Amino acid sequence: MIVLDPDENEILQEKSVMIQNGAKVENGILHVTNKRILYEKQGERKLRRAEASKIFLEVPMYEVVNVASAVPKMSLMTKKKLSIEYRDSGDMKIVEFEIKHPEALVDTIKNWATTSKRDHEEKMKAEDQERFRREVELAKAKASKSNVNMINLGNPSQKRDSSAVQTNNNLPRKADTLEVCPECGEVIPENSKFCPHCGYKIRD
Ligand SMILES: [Zn+2]
Repeated sequence: MIVLDPDENEILQEKSVMIQNGAKVENGILHVTNKRILYEKQGERKLRRAEASKIFLEVPMYEVVNVASAVPKMSLMTKKKLSIEYRDSGDMKIVEFEIKHPEALVDTIKNWATTSKRDHEEKMKAEDQERFRREVELAKAKASKSNVNMINLGNPSQKRDSSAVQTNNNLPRKADTLEVCPECGEVIPENSKFCPHCGYKIRD
């Protein structure tokens, strides 16, 4: 038994032989869903206990590169095959399954692979953007934190420990005239039009 995602539909579950790199695995079950291709070998029943089933192969649909069926016309001895070409951490691999009607699956798998690839790329892109957004936010938080320090330092109504002021920052400055970029938090020269660190427009 395999566990399906809520939006995952299984269209095939068939006892099949799997062939890869000349090696044959028998008595397994091929599962085809809109999200993956999976070959599972069920655990054998031993005298005392049943072995757990093993997943021999799991190919996400977005890694599928090509699908073909081989249907021999003449020989009754040769089995029909479904062959799947897929990417596996940078390598191209091919796996074949002996099933009854491979030709019926080819177009469906191709369509799903295309859809799945698009969804996967969008998901990766969204994750990249999210990561970038978080980095920017972190940088901004850091900058505004240093702004707060500067504001406190520059505020004469607040009691300040002058030794702390000195050790806080080694930049040469006059505490009350210090200007800080509101964007990146860096100290900027007085009356700058633009922040020399990040290019933020300070004044017209
Ligand atoms: Zn700046």
